[in-house]
Amino acid sequence: MKDKLQEMLAAARVAVTEVDSEKGLQDVRVRFLGKKGELTAIMKGMGGLSAEERPVVGAMANKVKEELEQLFEQSNGQIREKVIALRLQEEKIDITLPGRSSFSGTKHPITLVTEEVVEIFSALGFGVEEGPEIEKDFYNFEALNIPKDHPARDMQDTFYISDDVVLRTHTSPVQIRTMVKQPPPVRVIAPGTVYRRDSDITHSPMFHQVEGFLVDRNITFGDLKGILTTFISRFFGEKVGVRFRPSFFPFTEPSAEVDIQCVICGGKGCRVCKNSGWLEILGSGMIDPEVFKSVNYDPEEYSGFAFGMGLERIAMLKYGVNDLRLFFENDVRFLQQF
Ligand SMILES: [Zn+2]
Repeated sequence: MKDKLQEMLAAARVAVTEVDSEKGLQDVRVRFLGKKGELTAIMKGMGGLSAEERPVVGAMANKVKEELEQLFEQSNGQIREKVIALRLQEEKIDITLPGRSSFSGTKHPITLVTEEVVEIFSALGFGVEEGPEIEKDFYNFEALNIPKDHPARDMQDTFYISDDVVLRTHTSPVQIRTMVKQPPPVRVIAPGTVYRRDSDITHSPMFHQVEGFLVDRNITFGDLKGILTTFISRFFGEKVGVRFRPSFFPFTEPSAEVDIQCVICGGKGCRVCKNSGWLEILGSGMIDPEVFKSVNYDPEEYSGFAFGMGLERIAMLKYGVNDLRLFFENDVRFLQQF
């Protein structure tokens, strides 16, 4: 029996070296120390021993049992360390990889230009108003002295939603909406999105305008010139030349288009200004008394001026962009330059 105990201990020592998991070790433990295990089997032979041998073998069995317990304990610790080491190896994060740089967004050039225009006019005492992009015929045409049969409606190829509702073709309806809800004096600019059926290198079916108007007692064309000249010198620079050219709009009388000296060639003549040295940037005029009548302002008591310009147009000139469509293609390489 002594030999059997020693053999079993040796076998257990070999068995634990072959184990590589906690589950496997548990199986080995059951094999040697379990109720139906090898130690129990050997101890069943105790009955056949003499009275002298029995305590000696009993003491030895206890010692072997203790050694087995120790062996399994030790092995258990080693296996745990191995498992942890393995997991650390697998979950290792390689901090030597270069990081991914994050994109920081920039404002769209049209937003930048809009903000600058608003800032300049705010400094001149103008407030900001907005209106709906889906507009009633009345505000978009009728109240602006563009009746149903007026040829000006052909000038603007309009998106009609129904006979009476359009996508606004200009920001001018905000003039009407503002004047309908408040009496003079008013001093307002209205930036916003407008729509026309037009698409080429200098036209987009959706684009942006800013409308401005001022109504009070004793407002003259001189005030119009003063405000617009001030705006242009702040936006394009002190030195840029400005000229006012007579023009026609249904909702202003008299009307003027405003040109600035070509910012590309400095007035010498180039492809952009078609060799004229001048670039048209906005339309303006004294508000027509007919418009005042439709908003219940007394044209005998009040006068005022209005102007409107395309924000893409002035953004193209300010930043030297030669194709208007670039503003709407959302190419990051283009947008990142601003
Ligand atoms: Zn030029």
